[in-house]
Amino acid sequence: MTNDKLRILSGIQPTGRLHLGNLIGAVENWVELQKEHDCYFFIADYHALTTSYADTKNLKDDIRQVAIDLLAAGVAPEKAVLFKQSDVPEHAELHLLLSMLTPLSWLERVPSYKSKIEELKEKDLGTYGFLGYPVLQAADILIYKAREVPVGEDQLPHLELTREIARRFNNLYQDIFPEPKAALTRFPLLPGTDGRKMSKSYQNTIAISDPPEVVGKKVGVMVTDPARVRRQDPGHPDVCPVYQYYKIFAAKRQETVAKECRAAARGCVECKKELAQILNEYLAPIHAARIELEKEPKLLENILKNGAQRARLVAAATLAEAKQAIGLA
Ligand code: SF4
Repeated sequence: MTNDKLRILSGIQPTGRLHLGNLIGAVENWVELQKEHDCYFFIADYHALTTSYADTKNLKDDIRQVAIDLLAAGVAPEKAVLFKQSDVPEHAELHLLLSMLTPLSWLERVPSYKSKIEELKEKDLGTYGFLGYPVLQAADILIYKAREVPVGEDQLPHLELTREIARRFNNLYQDIFPEPKAALTRFPLLPGTDGRKMSKSYQNTIAISDPPEVVGKKVGVMVTDPARVRRQDPGHPDVCPVYQYYKIFAAKRQETVAKECRAAARGCVECKKELAQILNEYLAPIHAARIELEKEPKLLENILKNGAQRARLVAAATLAEAKQAIGLA
């Protein structure tokens, strides 16, 4: 990696298998970004604890599976630095330092704070760690002095908070942290099988590791145009989640599908069968790569270890600079 490349940082939480929404909204973008930029991609295991601290029995396996998913989907360790967040303790230490100067009111006004508590009602999220997770996110970004962060629209307030925290640090002590810019991803939202945003919390995901028969079953029960009750009723593709998938995964077919749907010349059952086949073809190379990676646990371990070592070179230098500026060195 040369220093004149734009440095980009992005992470993903290991809260279960990666799904098509993650693939389209984040990972495919990572695969493109790593071709041109100095990329740091991490498995955000500390972040997973902010909502799942009470049940960590699957955490180790989830981390492994997410690493396999990322590599199988094309994240390449020779092009990008791939690591596990907790292997780079500088994230936690900078988080601590930034938490000293972040006003409580900034955190309480983050829109996702209240909405997520509402969404995950079954969990006790009245914790210090959950309120402070945007500060941890700021530390993740600032520790690499990342200039750009690929985000979906729902993440923009968090990034704005990171910029504010960077400004506050720079004003209080010394100008160390650049304010990162948002690089909006192409397809931020993919509907889940129930039509809401695809999310593990809603149990409406199609995992990228789902075998073809599972993909077929999940697509088979997807919601469609609610006004289309009988086969002979003309459909409205623009309100149909199945059609959204055609737009993303089979752009060449979208016009024909829309036309046939509106003319009631295609039924929803056949439309879904065709979509399942398209998705399975799309996922086939990822599944083949997963099988190979599953056979090599040592290789996986080494990739993450090596990634953490490379990440720490940058993170330790930034942390030292921040401590010096504060007067702790
Ligand atoms: S035919 Fe396809 S696009 Fe039209 S409503 Fe049915 S599933 Fe949706």
